[in-house]
Amino acid sequence: MIEHDALSGEVKRVQHETKTDRTDAVARDMKTPQDNDGDDFHHDGNVRKYPLSGWFSGSRNSFGSWLQPVEDAPRLVKRDLKYHQSSSKFNIRNIHGDNKWTMITIFSGDWFHIILRQHTILSVGLMMGAWVTFIIFFAVIYMYIDKQDERVKCGLGFDDVPIQFHGAFAFSLETCTTVGYGLPGDQFSFFENCPGLQTAIFFQMMFSMLFNACLLAVVFARISRAEARALQFLFTDKACIRRESNGQFTFEFKVYDHDSKYPIIGAQIQLYAVHCSSSRNYIPMRTFQPDDAFKPPLLPSIPTTIIHHIDAYSPLLPPSFRKKNNVIPSMGLNMREIDSHTGSADIIPCPICGCMFGTYDRLKCHIIYSRITEEHDEYQVEGTHQELTEEEIDTLTTSPLSDRSLSLQAMKNFWEDSKMEVVVVVIGTDPLTSGSFQAMHSYNCENIVYGRSFKSDCTHDNKVNLGQFHETYPFGSD
Ligand SMILES: [Zn+2]
Repeated sequence: MIEHDALSGEVKRVQHETKTDRTDAVARDMKTPQDNDGDDFHHDGNVRKYPLSGWFSGSRNSFGSWLQPVEDAPRLVKRDLKYHQSSSKFNIRNIHGDNKWTMITIFSGDWFHIILRQHTILSVGLMMGAWVTFIIFFAVIYMYIDKQDERVKCGLGFDDVPIQFHGAFAFSLETCTTVGYGLPGDQFSFFENCPGLQTAIFFQMMFSMLFNACLLAVVFARISRAEARALQFLFTDKACIRRESNGQFTFEFKVYDHDSKYPIIGAQIQLYAVHCSSSRNYIPMRTFQPDDAFKPPLLPSIPTTIIHHIDAYSPLLPPSFRKKNNVIPSMGLNMREIDSHTGSADIIPCPICGCMFGTYDRLKCHIIYSRITEEHDEYQVEGTHQELTEEEIDTLTTSPLSDRSLSLQAMKNFWEDSKMEVVVVVIGTDPLTSGSFQAMHSYNCENIVYGRSFKSDCTHDNKVNLGQFHETYPFGSD
């Protein structure tokens, strides 16, 4: 008899158990997550007693019932713009508590980005306020220097009267802006007899140059920031979950870059399924279109449909159906079934001999052929493919997609119960400024339509009808 340890991947031969034991093992592992403490990747580190049990582990790409949804939690990406769009901001706030001043001390080292992150009017206003303070500071220094020794005439004041504030402020401003001097005293234009004043002027001009550079950097960075480019990147209001003719469930939505004449450079898309729990656990989602294994850049200048397959490894598959899959556990990797179909990553095991297969049909062919050859060669029944019952073969070789209880209604129930949110992040580079930006959007249970697909919004003469961008129509089977 063969054992498989799901944790170590070790396959062992042990003493045979009865067929009743094996049937019990199958039944045990076919329990729903609720029956099995909600652990989708259950193993206790011990060698498993029954050969089939290790193969039913399913995927770890599931939230599990141990994460209870939070009632009325705010969504992570708000639809705060018209046309059902978002301003690409995460709806997250920080609570510092007793560490507030510690955080301020740490973050003060990043003062430039903190100023940049403020609104343009505020950030430029702050810089201008600092510039005026800088002028006043040196005006006070000039007043102090001028009244130090009445016998020394620096040319700042009149008739042995030291310069007053308004005159010192004008002199400081004149020095800072380097527009040339018109001195109140007018006879000592180069301050030959006032070395302290020359030193103060030298430092003010030095700081003035640095300040002008900082001000220019802030103004330029705010005005030319590429993140505003994300406003032209459009997402559909709804995402569609539908069943294709081959039984495959898909999650899809559409994107389009409004500035379509000048394509975004290297646009990439990533989806995250975020659970609505206190931990906000999230799972990256694989995409079928565009194929994330190949990672081709998006071409959003043409309205593009993004497709995720809801397969055995998808976090969008209700966990109760995940348990019924005869697939290898992902061991924490982010896998997808379609790779198995194309031969790049076989995921369906034969529990008797340990061979791996890409599809359930291939496993069924293997079992049938092995039984014929074993019977012809008069192999013993126990421990060979002949030991599998017809019911077990059906269980092992039946795709979860053919499970009719896995319906659009089951999908809908799962979305409503889990309260999860799929966050979409598009990263691209604006061709005009070469600056990178991120456009974000999200879909929760309120934004999902079932058994529908998107209408085409392109016309025969290369126009995109944005009035039809969000529209869907019934498509697929239940
Ligand atoms: Zn086999």
